[in-house]
Amino acid sequence: MNECEYCAIDGFYGKKVQETEYWIIFLAPSQRYLGTCVVSLKRQCRDLMELNNEEWIEFGKIVQMMEKALAEILNPSLFNWSCFKNAAFRAKNPKPEIHWHFIPRYKDSVEYQGITFKDPDFGYVPQPIAREIPSEVMDDLFDLIKSAMDKYSI
Ligand SMILES: [Zn+2]
Repeated sequence: MNECEYCAIDGFYGKKVQETEYWIIFLAPSQRYLGTCVVSLKRQCRDLMELNNEEWIEFGKIVQMMEKALAEILNPSLFNWSCFKNAAFRAKNPKPEIHWHFIPRYKDSVEYQGITFKDPDFGYVPQPIAREIPSEVMDDLFDLIKSAMDKYSI
Protein backbone atom coordinates (compact mmCIF):
# COMPACT_ATOMS: atom_id res chain seq x y z
CA MET A 1 0.00 0.00 0.00
CA ASN A 2 1.23 3.43 -0.91
CA GLU A 3 1.35 5.91 1.94
CA CYS A 4 3.13 8.74 0.19
CA GLU A 5 1.78 11.99 1.61
CA TYR A 6 1.98 13.67 -1.77
CA CYS A 7 -0.32 11.17 -3.43
CA ALA A 8 -2.49 9.77 -0.78
CA ILE A 9 -5.91 10.76 0.18
CA ASP A 10 -7.06 7.16 0.24
CA GLY A 11 -3.62 5.60 0.06
CA PHE A 12 -3.89 5.24 -3.68
CA TYR A 13 -2.37 6.96 -6.68
CA GLY A 14 -5.70 7.80 -8.28
CA LYS A 15 -7.61 7.04 -11.45
CA LYS A 16 -5.69 5.47 -14.33
CA VAL A 17 -5.30 7.77 -17.33
CA GLN A 18 -2.95 5.66 -19.43
CA GLU A 19 -0.81 2.57 -19.18
CA THR A 20 2.35 1.94 -21.19
CA GLU A 21 4.66 -1.06 -21.22
CA TYR A 22 6.56 -0.02 -18.07
CA TRP A 23 4.58 2.82 -16.46
CA ILE A 24 1.07 3.75 -15.38
CA ILE A 25 -0.20 7.33 -15.38
CA PHE A 26 -2.81 8.29 -12.78
CA LEU A 27 -4.76 11.44 -12.10
CA ALA A 28 -3.85 12.13 -8.47
CA PRO A 29 -6.66 12.24 -5.91
CA SER A 30 -5.33 15.52 -4.50
CA GLN A 31 -5.69 18.51 -6.80
CA ARG A 32 -4.07 21.27 -4.73
CA TYR A 33 -2.17 21.91 -7.96
CA LEU A 34 -4.60 21.51 -10.86
CA GLY A 35 -3.72 18.61 -13.14
CA THR A 36 -1.47 16.78 -10.70
CA CYS A 37 -0.70 13.26 -11.86
CA VAL A 38 1.43 10.31 -10.76
CA VAL A 39 3.59 8.20 -13.06
CA SER A 40 4.24 4.86 -11.43
CA LEU A 41 6.68 2.12 -12.44
CA LYS A 42 4.98 -1.24 -12.94
CA ARG A 43 7.56 -3.18 -10.95
CA GLN A 44 8.96 -2.76 -7.48
CA CYS A 45 12.43 -1.30 -7.35
CA ARG A 46 14.32 0.59 -4.69
CA ASP A 47 16.31 3.24 -6.52
CA LEU A 48 16.29 5.02 -9.85
CA MET A 49 19.69 3.53 -10.63
CA GLU A 50 17.90 0.20 -11.04
CA LEU A 51 15.82 1.42 -13.95
CA ASN A 52 16.86 -0.07 -17.27
CA ASN A 53 17.31 1.84 -20.52
CA GLU A 54 13.94 0.85 -21.93
CA GLU A 55 12.18 2.18 -18.83
CA TRP A 56 14.09 5.48 -19.01
CA ILE A 57 13.40 5.90 -22.71
CA GLU A 58 9.72 5.28 -22.23
CA PHE A 59 9.63 7.63 -19.23
CA GLY A 60 11.21 10.36 -21.36
CA LYS A 61 8.45 9.98 -23.94
CA ILE A 62 5.84 10.13 -21.17
CA VAL A 63 7.35 13.38 -19.85
CA GLN A 64 7.10 14.95 -23.31
CA MET A 65 3.57 13.70 -23.82
CA MET A 66 2.30 14.89 -20.43
CA GLU A 67 3.89 18.33 -20.61
CA LYS A 68 2.54 18.90 -24.14
CA ALA A 69 -0.93 17.75 -23.13
CA LEU A 70 -1.12 19.90 -20.00
CA ALA A 71 0.32 22.94 -21.78
CA GLU A 72 -2.54 22.65 -24.29
CA ILE A 73 -5.39 22.36 -21.85
CA LEU A 74 -4.36 24.20 -18.67
CA ASN A 75 -1.29 26.21 -19.67
CA PRO A 76 0.66 25.99 -16.38
CA SER A 77 3.65 28.27 -15.79
CA LEU A 78 5.96 25.34 -15.14
CA PHE A 79 6.05 21.63 -14.37
CA ASN A 80 7.52 20.06 -11.26
CA TRP A 81 8.71 16.45 -11.41
CA SER A 82 9.71 14.73 -8.21
CA CYS A 83 10.56 11.24 -7.07
CA PHE A 84 10.73 11.27 -3.26
CA LYS A 85 9.95 7.81 -1.82
CA ASN A 86 10.43 9.33 1.65
CA ALA A 87 7.33 7.88 3.25
CA ALA A 88 8.30 4.29 2.39
CA PHE A 89 11.60 4.70 4.23
CA ARG A 90 9.92 5.44 7.55
CA ALA A 91 9.23 1.71 7.68
CA LYS A 92 11.73 -0.77 9.07
CA ASN A 93 11.94 -2.68 5.78
CA PRO A 94 11.25 -0.11 3.13
CA LYS A 95 9.57 -1.32 -0.05
CA PRO A 96 9.42 1.85 -2.08
CA GLU A 97 7.44 2.07 -5.27
CA ILE A 98 9.12 4.20 -7.88
CA HIS A 99 6.62 6.89 -8.77
CA TRP A 100 7.00 10.39 -10.13
CA HIS A 101 4.87 13.29 -9.03
CA PHE A 102 3.92 15.43 -11.97
CA ILE A 103 2.83 18.75 -10.54
CA PRO A 104 1.79 21.62 -12.81
CA ARG A 105 2.47 25.00 -11.16
CA TYR A 106 0.63 28.24 -11.76
CA LYS A 107 1.77 31.82 -11.38
CA ASP A 108 -1.81 33.05 -11.70
CA SER A 109 -4.96 31.45 -10.35
CA VAL A 110 -6.97 29.24 -12.70
CA GLU A 111 -10.75 28.92 -12.93
CA TYR A 112 -11.95 25.44 -13.70
CA GLN A 113 -15.61 24.37 -13.59
CA GLY A 114 -16.43 27.27 -11.31
CA ILE A 115 -13.66 26.44 -8.86
CA THR A 116 -10.68 28.72 -8.32
CA PHE A 117 -7.30 27.05 -8.11
CA LYS A 118 -4.56 29.20 -6.66
CA ASP A 119 -1.02 28.04 -6.29
CA PRO A 120 -0.11 29.54 -2.91
CA ASP A 121 3.33 27.93 -3.03
CA PHE A 122 4.34 29.13 -6.49
CA GLY A 123 8.11 29.45 -6.75
CA TYR A 124 8.64 26.97 -3.91
CA VAL A 125 8.42 23.22 -3.35
CA PRO A 126 4.87 21.88 -3.54
CA GLN A 127 3.28 21.17 -0.17
CA PRO A 128 1.88 17.73 0.62
CA ILE A 129 -1.51 19.14 1.57
CA ALA A 130 -4.46 17.22 0.21
CA ARG A 131 -7.17 19.02 -1.68
CA GLU A 132 -10.13 17.03 -2.86
CA ILE A 133 -12.52 18.48 -5.39
CA PRO A 134 -16.14 17.45 -6.08
CA SER A 135 -16.33 14.10 -7.84
CA GLU A 136 -18.16 15.48 -10.89
CA VAL A 137 -15.39 18.07 -11.38
CA MET A 138 -12.82 15.34 -10.90
CA ASP A 139 -14.55 13.22 -13.59
CA ASP A 140 -14.53 16.19 -15.92
CA LEU A 141 -10.86 16.90 -15.28
CA PHE A 142 -10.08 13.24 -15.87
CA ASP A 143 -11.82 13.30 -19.28
CA LEU A 144 -10.04 16.52 -20.25
CA ILE A 145 -6.60 15.20 -19.32
CA LYS A 146 -7.16 11.77 -20.77
CA SER A 147 -8.29 13.04 -24.16
CA ALA A 148 -5.38 15.50 -24.31
CA MET A 149 -2.87 12.76 -23.44
CA ASP A 150 -4.43 10.19 -25.76
CA LYS A 151 -3.68 12.47 -28.71
CA TYR A 152 0.03 11.77 -28.29
CA SER A 153 1.29 8.26 -28.87
CA ILE A 154 4.12 6.98 -26.74
ZN1 LIG B 1 3.70 9.95 -4.09
